[in-house]
Amino acid sequence: GRINVAIDGPAGAGKSTVARRVAEQLGYIYIDTGAMYRAVALAANRAGISPGDADRLAELVKTIDIALEPGADGQTVWLGGENVTAAIRTREVTLKVSEIASHEAVRMRLVEMQRKLAASKGVVMDGRDIGTHVLPDAEVKVFLVASVKVRALRRYQELSESELVPIEQLEQEIAERDRSDESRDISPLIRAKDAEVLDSTDLTIDQVVEHILDVCRT
Ligand code: C5P
Repeated sequence: GRINVAIDGPAGAGKSTVARRVAEQLGYIYIDTGAMYRAVALAANRAGISPGDADRLAELVKTIDIALEPGADGQTVWLGGENVTAAIRTREVTLKVSEIASHEAVRMRLVEMQRKLAASKGVVMDGRDIGTHVLPDAEVKVFLVASVKVRALRRYQELSESELVPIEQLEQEIAERDRSDESRDISPLIRAKDAEVLDSTDLTIDQVVEHILDVCRT
């Protein structure tokens, strides 16, 4: 029968690539919850709402229209009918998203949406609080980690030419986002007790995917 798979971990550990491939192999739906927080950050940015403004963010998420559409080459992210798949990946959004994600009203709204998306089993969901909070009954839970150096290098390789910054700066920003995600009051980034830790520092994507598929099949 179908199961749910929760993949959590810090930024750049390879969660989204791994989760997408696992979903593809199993014929499951892939849900990137980070993309949803990024869409809120983008909407807030456009509305001129500062990342610390709890009241206005609570208002914003009441009516926000976010949709994730699975496709052959990845997932398309829609914000009020606009394709924001690329717009949510800018450094500007990346630098603000963690503070936006720390607000209770934002998390409550997105978690509600995420649980609906996973209501019928057969999803692979990646994020920070999936195994601990969103889907505590997920049959398979993975906590994917990697060294800060490797994660910064992976991010560096994804940057467009206009966005190039020194890799040391990316290392600092990633470490800062980890601290912020790990230290927030609500659903901090933490390994679920029943999650398996997988360190992808010295593993290929294929090796990580194969391992998770093995676990899913047993
Ligand atoms: O996964 P990604 O790096 O795109 O996530 C962006 C940010 O969204 C994270 O740094 C985190 O602050 C927030 N997030 C979260 N809970 C999730 C997924 C993402 O707080 N389940």
